[in-house]
Amino acid sequence: MKRTDVCIVGAGPSGSIAALFLAKYGINCILTDKAKFPRDKICGDGISGWVVTILNELDKDLLIRLSKQSFLLPSHGIRLVAPNHKSLDLPFLDNNQADLDIPPGFIGKRLDFDNFLIDEVKTKKEIDLLEATEIIGYTKEKDGIRLQTSDETEIFCRIVIFSNGANSKFMQDPGGIYKSKTHIMTGIKSYYTGVTGFHEQNYVELHFLKDILPGYFWIFPLPNGLANVGIGLDQERIRKKKLNLKAIMLEAIETLPYLKERFKDAELVSKIQAHSLPLWDGKRFISGDRYMLTGDAASLIDPITGEGIGHAAISGMYAAEQCKRSLESNDFSAKFMRNYDKQVYKRIGKELKISSKIVHFIKHPWLFNLIMTKANSSKILKEKLTLAMTDLEVRKELNGPWLYLKILMGR
Ligand SMILES: Cc1cc2nc3c(=O)[nH]c(=O)nc-3n(C[C@H](O)[C@H](O)[C@H](O)COP(=O)(O)OP(=O)(O)OC[C@H]3O[C@@H](n4cnc5c(N)ncnc54)[C@H](O)[C@@H]3O)c2cc1C
Repeated sequence: MKRTDVCIVGAGPSGSIAALFLAKYGINCILTDKAKFPRDKICGDGISGWVVTILNELDKDLLIRLSKQSFLLPSHGIRLVAPNHKSLDLPFLDNNQADLDIPPGFIGKRLDFDNFLIDEVKTKKEIDLLEATEIIGYTKEKDGIRLQTSDETEIFCRIVIFSNGANSKFMQDPGGIYKSKTHIMTGIKSYYTGVTGFHEQNYVELHFLKDILPGYFWIFPLPNGLANVGIGLDQERIRKKKLNLKAIMLEAIETLPYLKERFKDAELVSKIQAHSLPLWDGKRFISGDRYMLTGDAASLIDPITGEGIGHAAISGMYAAEQCKRSLESNDFSAKFMRNYDKQVYKRIGKELKISSKIVHFIKHPWLFNLIMTKANSSKILKEKLTLAMTDLEVRKELNGPWLYLKILMGR
C-alpha cells in the first residue's frame, strides 16, 4: 500500500494544477490518472484569461514558457453571432498580465496543453505521478482515506482531491451533487482544416443558432490552419426536442450561406466526438470530511460560455491551499474544509451566479438579435458588453431588465 499526505484523483488541469501548487508548498502528493499522457480531452480548446492568471500565481516562468509554445495561438477577443447571423466583435480587455506581454487568452489543443502541465509535474520531486491508474473506490477510516485502484494496489492518504472530470462518480458519493439534465450540456467537437474568415487577432467565435438557444455552435482557430468546430446544448432540450447535435452542426456548415462560404474549402480531419459539461447550477458544498472536489467534478463550468478550464485551475489552486491549512492545523473536518468552498466562491461565485441568470435572456432570439444590432451601432453598448466580460458590476446589468428596456426604448 502506498501512503501519502494528499492523493489527487485525475490529472487534467484541475488535478495537475493542484499538484503543482502542493509541490510549491513542499507538500508531497500522489497524482493518479486512469489515462497515460499525452491523452486527449474533448474540448473547444479555448484557454481563458483565468488560466493565465492562475499560472501567473503559480509560477511566472512557467506561464512565460507556456506562452511561447507553438501549439498555442494567442487570442484577443470573441465574436458573437446572433440568430439573425449579425456578428459583434468584442476584444478581451487587457488583464493584469500586461506587464508580462502575455495575450489575454489562448487556443490550443488539450492534448498538448494538458501534456505541458504533466511535463511540469514530472519535474517535481514532491509529486508521485501514477498514470494508467484508475481510482475505483474509497473507504473512510479514522485517520485517513483508503483508495482502491484498478491494479489492486491501495493508496492511503490524509486528504483526497477528486479532480476526475465531468463523469466523476465521486461528485455524487461522497460529494452529494446530483444534477438534472437541464444543467448538463452535451458538447461535440471536431477538427477542420481550411476554414476561412477568422478575425485577424484569432477571436473565438460563438454562433447562437436559433434552434439550439441557449446553446451555440463554435469555431475556434488553432495553429497550422486548424480549427476546433463544435456545438453544445443542455441534455434536457436535446431529449425533449429529439435533437441530433452532429446532424445540426453538419447541416449548419452545409446550408447556412455565411458558414457555407467559410467552409467551402474546409475538410473534416478528425472524428466528431461528444462529452458532457456539468454546468454550474447553484452553490453547493464542494468539500467534506477529508475531501474536496475540483473542476468539472465540482460542477464549476460557466453555464453560458461552457468555460471550465479556468475554473478548474482556480479550484485546483484553492484545494492545494486548503490542504496546506488542514495539514498545518491537523484539522480535516468537513467544517474546516469549507474554507475551500469559501475561497472558490469568493473568486468566481458572483461570476457564475450572474451567468446562470443571463442564460434566461439568451433563450429569446428576438432579444438577442436586437441587442447585437444595437450594439453594432451604439459605441456605449458595445463598450458595456466588452466590459461585461471582465467587470462583474457591468455584467450584473445584463442580468436585469433595465438595460434591455433602455435598448428597446432606443437609448
Ligand atoms: C465539447 C466540450 C468543449 C469545451 N470547450 C471548452 C473551452 O473551449 N474552454 C474551456 O475553458 N472549457 C471547455 N470545456 C470544459 C473543459 O473541457 C473542462 O471544464 C475541463 O477539462 C475540466 O478540467 P478538469 O481537470 O476538472 O477535468 P478533466 O480535464 O476532464 O480531467 C479529468 C482527468 O481525470 C481522469 N480520470 C477520470 N476518472 C478517473 C479515475 N476514476 N481515476 C483516475 N483518473 C481519472 C481523466 O482521465 C482525466 O485526465 C469544454 C468541454 C467539452 C465537453
